[in-house]
This record gives sequence, C-alpha cells and structure tokens, in this order.
Amino acid sequence: MPILPGDDPAAVERCAQTLAAGGLVAFATETVYGLGARADDDAAVRAIFAAKGRPADHPLIVHVLDVAGAEAFAAQLSDAARRLITAFWPGPVTLVVARRPGVAAVAAGGLPTVGLRCPDHPVARALLQHARARGVPGVAAPSANRFGRVSPTRAEHVLAEFGPELAVLDGGECREGIESTIVDCSRDPPRLLRP
Ligand code: AMP
Ligand code: MG
Repeated sequence: MPILPGDDPAAVERCAQTLAAGGLVAFATETVYGLGARADDDAAVRAIFAAKGRPADHPLIVHVLDVAGAEAFAAQLSDAARRLITAFWPGPVTLVVARRPGVAAVAAGGLPTVGLRCPDHPVARALLQHARARGVPGVAAPSANRFGRVSPTRAEHVLAEFGPELAVLDGGECREGIESTIVDCSRDPPRLLRP
C-alpha cells in the first residue's frame, strides 16, 4: 500500500512514525509533493539526497508547523521575517534565515542559513502535527522527484518516480502546482530569491 489516504489519521500516524524513526515519507503540500525526512537527523536527510540523486550542497526547505517550529531551526527571526510570517504563513512562502548552529546542517547543505516554510495543506499539517508529537521539530522536504525531473503534483506521479517502497500520503492534486516563493531574510533588506 504505497499510496495512503492523507485524511486517515491512522495512515498519517504511520508516516509520522516512519519519520520519527529516521525514514522517508512523501506527502502532499499546496505547492508540490515533498519527499520528507526529519530535519534534525542528518543521516535521515542524507537519504533524501541519495534517493533523489541531488547534489548534497543544494539546500532543502525545512517544513514546520508554526513559528515555534521555526524557532527550533532559526538562530533568530528578524523583524522582517516575523512580518512575512504574519502575512504569509501558513502558505507557499519560504524564508531563508540564520540557522541555529548544530541543527539541520545537512538539510541546509552546510550553509549557515536555513530555508523554512509552514505549509497550508491539511495533509502536510496533519503529518507535521503527528510528527511533532513524536519529537520531530520539522521535516526537510524537496520535491518528490529524482534530480532534474518535473515536480510531482499527484500521488501517482510520486509512485511512478520512486516505486511502492516509499509511502505517499495522498492529498489529491496540489492547489498551487509550483514551488514556493523564497525570500532571503538573512540579509537586510530581505531579497526575493525565487518568485
Ligand atoms: P526546493 O527545490 O523546492 O526543495 O527548494 C530548494 C531551494 O530553496 C534551493 O535550491 C534554494 O534555491 C532554496 N534554499 C533553501 N534553503 C536555502 C538557503 N539556506 N539559502 C539559500 N537558498 C535556499
Ligand atoms: Mg523540484
């Protein structure tokens, strides 16, 4: 059963347990489907790079439930970052901020900054909620496709890409269908990195 119904709490819980144990899970967000691992576990995050064939110096976006989740990864949130959070979270806006030293180094591709996003999709939020209850502060997740291929907007695309070994939490067709906007808040003034 590689594709699991994202509105089934038992399926969400199973995927949260996989994440907590350092495994990979794919899940729906409002942008595209993500291939996730717990962001605070460097070995788990390395498995994302290996599965995708993605160069290890490309930073991943860390998905969090709320501002408290962001604070687990951010060294500090500037006033500008907090204003953007108030305006756009939860939603398809990623903020690059100074990274808390010693946390999520592999997810950040070794950079002193980290990209944080708080998704708005009910399946992503349920997964983050269940994962947090199991001690997972955030989930690093690039798009659930192999490096250089199109980002998936349906669970079936993810299955075709990675096969039935990988659990996919189904949330239907992604509403946005394109990657999040990225704003670099680690500098003053902030700068748009990706429209
Ligand atoms: P995605 O391909 O949607 O997983 O988004 C990953 C992209 O987010 C990277 O390729 C970067 O462009 C951007 N990104 C994530 N974290 C950072 C960071 N710490 N600094 C700069 N850009 C970042
Ligand atoms: Mg992609």
